[in-house]
Amino acid sequence: MFVDKAKLYIKAGNGGNGAVAFRREIYVPAGGPAGGDGGKGGNVIIIADSNLRTLMDYRYKSKYVAEPGEDGKGSNMFGKHGEDLYLRVPVGTIIKDEETGLVMADLKNDGDEFIAAKGGYGGKGNTHFKTSVRQAPGFAKAGKDGEEKNIILELRLIADVGLIGFPNVGKSTFLSIISKAKPKIANYHFTTLTPNLGVTKLKNGDSFVVADIPGLIEGAAEGAGVGTRFLKHLTRTRLLLHLVDIAPLDESDPVVAARAIVLELEKYDSSLADKPRWLVLNKIDRLKTEKILQIINEVKDIYPFADVVPVSGLKNDNLEHLVYVIKKYLT
Ligand code: GDP
Ligand code: MG
Repeated sequence: MFVDKAKLYIKAGNGGNGAVAFRREIYVPAGGPAGGDGGKGGNVIIIADSNLRTLMDYRYKSKYVAEPGEDGKGSNMFGKHGEDLYLRVPVGTIIKDEETGLVMADLKNDGDEFIAAKGGYGGKGNTHFKTSVRQAPGFAKAGKDGEEKNIILELRLIADVGLIGFPNVGKSTFLSIISKAKPKIANYHFTTLTPNLGVTKLKNGDSFVVADIPGLIEGAAEGAGVGTRFLKHLTRTRLLLHLVDIAPLDESDPVVAARAIVLELEKYDSSLADKPRWLVLNKIDRLKTEKILQIINEVKDIYPFADVVPVSGLKNDNLEHLVYVIKKYLT
């Protein structure tokens, strides 16, 4: 299951208390103070891991408490520090403070980490409080409490290019051909229920990341269907490829379909609508060249600002060229 939001309670470890103790060696009759310091409490650290794709684990467990530091001991022995607690999240996870809604961190790269709750310092043992007039301090400091917080984890996929379009237009097929991703492909709507990421590699070793999200349906911007739930995952892309089936089996008009998506984007989020977007007319293997050219012309009227690229995902027609110009655009 794809989970892209989670609420957590996190608590760092409390610091251990400083000890009150005195030396008791046989040859030191008036033994001085010897209470060691308490150990520091463990931090709660959130770390991005490129092997993870979802925040699903955090749906089942939402409370995370790091280990406390041990209390100090006699003979000036320090208490052990509490272990840091690491929470692994997918790359692209944003950490917010639940109360204020403020973004605390944005883990964009594999291995990025953030101390979300700091462990408390250990208290000082009585050794520290010896003075010339106070040879045997009978007190020590208590450890400090670890921070505790309610936080929200929100995943926003990190990809260079986003695919957008109605169900069944061939987005997943397209992704599987231009990358090594293995998304589900089938001839019915909504086979893609979770976003897929694929890495497209060029012959010269360059690469870029493409995100395929579940197909939009009309009215998605108003919350119908699965549409907008996933649109947010395209907000970090630099280029949208709007895929349109040039020859739908139900014989609907591809030009009308192209326009419908533009309206959805504008309704959902104008920043998404303003993103650079190319129109990819897919499934050209199903039409004669003449008809393809005619549709390209019609679509250019409603899509005057976008580049129009005819391809066939199934037949791998014109994809190599498209991949090349995408990379050139991104560089
Ligand atoms: P998605 O819902 O947009 O991800 O579409 P899919 O990739 O799952 O494809 C839907 C259907 O269209 C499948 O039956 C594919 O085999 C078919 N399809 C995808 N690309 C092409 C294409 O270029 N030409 C033809 N003729 N069929 C295609
Ligand atoms: Mg799909």
